[in-house]
This record gives sequence, C-alpha cells and structure tokens, in this order.
Amino acid sequence: MFLRCAACGSRNLTERDVDETLTVGEGSAAERIRAAVPIRHCSDCGEEWADRKTEAARRDAVERHLAERRAREKRERKDAAGAGAGPFHRPSRS
Ligand SMILES: [Zn+2]
Repeated sequence: MFLRCAACGSRNLTERDVDETLTVGEGSAAERIRAAVPIRHCSDCGEEWADRKTEAARRDAVERHLAERRAREKRERKDAAGAGAGPFHRPSRS
C-alpha cells in the first residue's frame, strides 16, 4: 500500500491510536461510547486523518457495544421472567 500525506505528499507516515467518542444509534436511543481507533499521522507535517482501518475500528467498536447491549437486555429479560414469584415480586433495587 503506497500512501502519501494529502497535505505535504510525504510517505513518512505512522499510525497512532486516538480516543474518539462515537455515537451509537439515533435520536433518543443514541448512546455515546469511547473507543480507541488508529489514525494516520504524517511525521513530516503533523497532518492526521482517518483511513479504512480507522473506519473498520469504529465499526468494530459500535458492533461490540451493540452486542454487549443485546446480551445485557437478554439477561435482564430473563431475570424479569425468572422472578415470577407473583405479581408483586420485584427484584430489589436501591
Ligand atoms: Zn504531511
């Protein structure tokens, strides 16, 4: 892969991880998550930009978050269904 800096044309590129805030979902269901993603960094002029790897890392982070949320919701539904000792029984929550 021959990459050049879009700003100065240098090939002296490195990669570094940055913390990003990503938005998962839309509207009132939207959640914000933090994820470390790799971005390209030009050692000569300091320009930084997202490439395909950055995009993939963002997608992974979002998918991981959604999978965790689905697993959590499934667990909570199971807990609620398993708590059926009567209509007034509720798991105690402070
Ligand atoms: Zn550059």
